[in-house]
Amino acid sequence: MKKAHILLIEDETHIAQGLIFNLEAEGYRVTHVETCQSARSAFEQLQPDLAILDLMLPDGHGLTLCREFRRASPQLPILILTALGDEQERVAGLAEGADDYLSKPFNLNEFLLRVAGMLRRSGWYHPEEKGAEPSRL
Ligand code: CA
Repeated sequence: MKKAHILLIEDETHIAQGLIFNLEAEGYRVTHVETCQSARSAFEQLQPDLAILDLMLPDGHGLTLCREFRRASPQLPILILTALGDEQERVAGLAEGADDYLSKPFNLNEFLLRVAGMLRRSGWYHPEEKGAEPSRL
């Protein structure tokens, strides 16, 4: 079964390391980048199944990336990570096409459940026991 490929854009190393460790433990493939520039090339080259996007990045704002990703890929699930209590950023993120958000610091289990839920809703996730079913169109 193909692993979901997650593009993680997060410049805070300790947060990124924790997320990578736990996402990989859940069976996902993770590509981690720390800048808008490397996020753009990774997005084009890898065509990820889901993007996790920090907003404050060293070379720009995550909302710009969110808008670009959404324009290029209407189906891509996008989860944004915002500063705690920053209502403006949450609203702006949703307005730019993000599907969901989490405020830092967040509960790890909630994070993993949201990722799983977004992948499921996006139609990427097909349980193996239903693998023989004809595809529904
Ligand atoms: Ca940051």
